[in-house]
Amino acid sequence: MKYKPADHIQDLQYFGEFGGVNPSISDSSTYTFLSAKTMFDTFEGNAEGCYLYSRHSSPSNLYLGEALAAMEGTEAANVAASGMGAITSVLMQLCNAGDHIVCSRTVYGGTYAFLKNFAPKFGIETTFVDITKPEMVEAAVQKNTKVIYCESVSNPLLEIADLPVLARISKARDLKLVVDNTFSPLSLSPAKLGADVVIHSLTKFINGSSDTVGGVVCGTTEFINDLRNVNDGAAMLLGPTMDSLRAASILKNLRTLHIRMKQHSLNAMHLAQKFQENGFKTVYPGLESHPGHETFKKMMNESYGFGGMLTIDVGSLDKANELMELMQEKNLGYLAVSLGFYKTLFSAPGTSTSSEIPLEEQMEMGLSDGLIRFSIGLDNDISRTYERMKECMMKVGVLATEMV
Ligand code: PLP
Repeated sequence: MKYKPADHIQDLQYFGEFGGVNPSISDSSTYTFLSAKTMFDTFEGNAEGCYLYSRHSSPSNLYLGEALAAMEGTEAANVAASGMGAITSVLMQLCNAGDHIVCSRTVYGGTYAFLKNFAPKFGIETTFVDITKPEMVEAAVQKNTKVIYCESVSNPLLEIADLPVLARISKARDLKLVVDNTFSPLSLSPAKLGADVVIHSLTKFINGSSDTVGGVVCGTTEFINDLRNVNDGAAMLLGPTMDSLRAASILKNLRTLHIRMKQHSLNAMHLAQKFQENGFKTVYPGLESHPGHETFKKMMNESYGFGGMLTIDVGSLDKANELMELMQEKNLGYLAVSLGFYKTLFSAPGTSTSSEIPLEEQMEMGLSDGLIRFSIGLDNDISRTYERMKECMMKVGVLATEMV
């Protein structure tokens, strides 16, 4: 039987301090000890169930981490203040000066900028490759390579990484496969497909209410403990700690993720099919025309669909901007970066979330300036949404009346 991660979320059960159905929120940065010896043992990591200081861990953060580990099917997880806090601490933990990373050339702009501009300051170099070509990944591996890094569904081009194949390559060379699964929570379970470390920006679908940033690292207990180690753990020493109040609110939102993902996927599939019929160059992993469709299908947890992200190309940045402004005016969504909200969000990645990537490289990877990235919302009547979007498209002249 296929692994169903959400079943693990539904099995979680908590009792608050006073018998509440939600765990009590830990509202302290520091914790008292009745005996000095226990404090020492806790510092050394040898006192199960004791807390020392909230940058290290807090009950609320541990509850959220536990739920996310259950969702991804890993032994443990460590939450972070942002997705970038999770990504950077993982890479700083796994790599030393002189090490090398093979990374997909289409990743979130912040991740790209970190690897291209920041990590070299610490002697960590990266080769960017087309992740959909395993032979290129293999060819880029060097003696000093430590990590293969990719997004399961890439931002913004929605390229699909063949995770079992990448896992085979990384295992054969004793590398770590680190996968950012932000675009496809529940639909894909990278750890089950061979990833060593799974990362999410919780800011997006998982929290789902665009009211906070957050991140998580899911992996083995050993790796998560390494990250939190007081002597050389990147999460402990770089300090990207999530606040307990936020951890508690994200945990509550996580419980409806499975329902939301199904609706995001249904709505995105509907719009993707319509946009494609209208003649737009439409990229959505659920469309058979997507080069990674079969790869996604073989990896997916079917009931959650192909996710809520799609792109269309409307020909030019001016047209993209005009259309997005009009759609926002007509209450069809927001002209905003980020993803995973109840409302549709749209932006032109070339000038926003991927603007860190130099223009020539954007062109090389197929990131055209007329590209609009949509994070499709939870609309109850998506056909009405489509009709109104179509009117906007006709009004700005990217859709001819005879195409309708
Ligand atoms: N990973 C992906 C795929 C993203 O799209 C983003 C942000 O857009 C991040 C990581 C970074 O997450 P955060 O903004 O929570 O730091």
